[in-house]
Amino acid sequence: MSNLIPGFTGYRPSAVEAGYVARQLLARRYTSIPRLSRPSAEDAAAIAELMNHALRVPGVFQLLATQHAQRPGAKFEATINDLKRHSGDVGQLIDKQTAAEATAVLADILPRAEALLKEPPPPHLANAFGKEDAIALAAARWFKHEYFTWIDPIKCPRCGGATKFAEVSEPNERERAGGARRVEVHKCDSGGCEGQRRFARYNTVKALMGSREGRCGEFAQLFYVFLLVLGLEARYVWNSEDHVWTEYFSPTAGHWVHVDSCEAEVGKPQLYDRGWGKQQRWCLAFGALGAEDVTRAYVDDWDACLARRMQQTEDGRGVTEERLKLILLTHTVQCRAHRGDAERAQLAGVDQQQAAWITDARRRNLEAELGGLKGQGRESGTEAWVQARGEGGDVQMEEPPEVIDDVAHEPNTTNEVPGEVKDGVRETVDEEGEAAAAGSGTVTAVEEVKE
Ligand SMILES: [Zn+2]
Repeated sequence: MSNLIPGFTGYRPSAVEAGYVARQLLARRYTSIPRLSRPSAEDAAAIAELMNHALRVPGVFQLLATQHAQRPGAKFEATINDLKRHSGDVGQLIDKQTAAEATAVLADILPRAEALLKEPPPPHLANAFGKEDAIALAAARWFKHEYFTWIDPIKCPRCGGATKFAEVSEPNERERAGGARRVEVHKCDSGGCEGQRRFARYNTVKALMGSREGRCGEFAQLFYVFLLVLGLEARYVWNSEDHVWTEYFSPTAGHWVHVDSCEAEVGKPQLYDRGWGKQQRWCLAFGALGAEDVTRAYVDDWDACLARRMQQTEDGRGVTEERLKLILLTHTVQCRAHRGDAERAQLAGVDQQQAAWITDARRRNLEAELGGLKGQGRESGTEAWVQARGEGGDVQMEEPPEVIDDVAHEPNTTNEVPGEVKDGVRETVDEEGEAAAAGSGTVTAVEEVKE
């Protein structure tokens, strides 16, 4: 328990300690994340008891891990655990040389943002369009239209004709060095031509800056780091219905703002629900400041969404609302407990603003109306692919073709986290719902400890 030295602020809590604090927060015994370096006698005793218990039982961790892997919702939890790797600042996510290269690549974004600030902003952003918002918009437009390329349709490298997805293959040495865990092989569709193209699902920033191509997984992963390099507070958003995007914190708007580099859209969280017609269940945001269940910002009918979550959890493919809150809050505690008092207080204020926004359906509705999303189908991807995924908005198509998974996920640490291609269709994961209070994973008051 050397971590509990009074006055020492740099301590990063263990999972046991953070879990303990998260439970206290959920029980409202704390109203904000405390500084773990100065626990009360009661807390110190409780945490010591938890840790001693865990240490005393031989093999307890293996036993727990085995049980954990078998219980319902384990896959979903594994996915959440994997998302924690996005919680870092630039210095933790990329090396210095890659950061320097990214800075050089992004040199033109700030001047473009300044130019945007001199023009009338897009109507749905008119109420809040400050420097950060302009940077995000300039970056998203540049990323989609100039820098990164949507991989499909994949052309035959020999004859230039159409290819067809053939199989998932093991990465070679070079591909593995770029973090690829699997490679899609696409073979030429015209008779007699032996051409084939390997599409490695890279996972490192360096490799993605080299390939400059992908689907939404590659788009979101690289764009997330670019936002950080540009100096924005950003996070990576995972959606259980096979999409990923990003958010940045807008001081002008006073909340986290949606930005999707596949679509070059900023501040249109209803894009997937109203626009593409997706029946979403979970949208979870991960960044250096912790994790938040942001689903409420991305669905029109929150109650219907909660019902979908509950169904998934009953089917064994999700976790309860209570469990989800605990997992996200524990992670948030681990991301914040080592920070100074002033910073933690400031972050609690940010959480409050975010919670006020995410629960204000009327305000978000108004913003969505201004965004004009009704029937705005997906722009990224081939038309057939978009239709096969049911993301075409109002546009209908007769026969959906085969679907190949979208999200480049993610060095999955477990065997079969979502992202696996099964019969060419990506398996999605889900879970349940109870009244998930606004901004779960956030803490809502500035006061230190009460009671
Ligand atoms: Zn060919």
